[in-house]
Amino acid sequence: MAVSIEGQVAAITGGASGIGLASAKALASAGAKVAIVDRDEQGLATACAEIGANAFPVRVDLLDPKSVATMLPQILEKAGKLDILHANAGAYIGGDAATGNPDAWDRMLNLNINAAFRSVHAVLSYMIERKRGDILVTSSVAGVVPVKVEPIYTASKHAVQAFVHTVRRQVAKDGVRVGAIQPGPVVTALLKDWVPERLAAEKAAGGLIEAEEVGEAVLFMLTRPRNVIVRDMVILPALFDV
Ligand code: NAD
Repeated sequence: MAVSIEGQVAAITGGASGIGLASAKALASAGAKVAIVDRDEQGLATACAEIGANAFPVRVDLLDPKSVATMLPQILEKAGKLDILHANAGAYIGGDAATGNPDAWDRMLNLNINAAFRSVHAVLSYMIERKRGDILVTSSVAGVVPVKVEPIYTASKHAVQAFVHTVRRQVAKDGVRVGAIQPGPVVTALLKDWVPERLAAEKAAGGLIEAEEVGEAVLFMLTRPRNVIVRDMVILPALFDV
């Protein structure tokens, strides 16, 4: 039986675009107040305008520890509390282990791992003290199954997944639920590096899903009764072959 999240305050990192924006819209339409956390000022303004009164911007660069330290204070100042963190921001840089660009991988690894670790760290003590909270991390199907053409992205999301499972076991006793969603390929700006032919081929083969599907899954996970946790949700195009 679903429970309401009406009146709860949710922070969504990377909320100005793609999956984060879809999550923010799903939670706001269920009555939550959403803090859109992103470094993209223009994207923040557009996302908040699209969502309306239930959204407010929180400008943070998750690669900058000093900036991350301002995230919770900004949210508390604007909304008075924080019930939910959707740690979603991340990036994708492809390439196989022989020919990929190690400098680009460094940037992606830094973001994918630290955006999750730092944003969770920034809110965890607060949630433990309140004896209540929900943390949901956007991992990837590449966090649970090695995707053979994506060794470094797969490694980054396996690290995120390991972090999620460890933290979940540490803080369950404190009333804080920690879970992850693991989407397959979703039509967002993240796939901009895919050549148009690859995108078109994936789409024609039924290998892509829309961000709204992931937003609905986030809402489902967060509206379970508090004695239940949907720990992981792999969301794939039905024809995706892993
Ligand atoms: P996206 O590019 O549409 O959105 C990413 C958002 O993160 C942007 O708004 C961007 O400004 C923000 N961001 C990036 N770096 C930031 C930083 N340093 N500080 C603050 N904000 C920052 O991408 P998306 O597809 O929505 O991806 C969101 C998450 O979903 C990522 O973790 C990604 O790995 C994961 N994911 C995506 C797919 C997919 O196919 N799109 C599949 C599985 C998992």
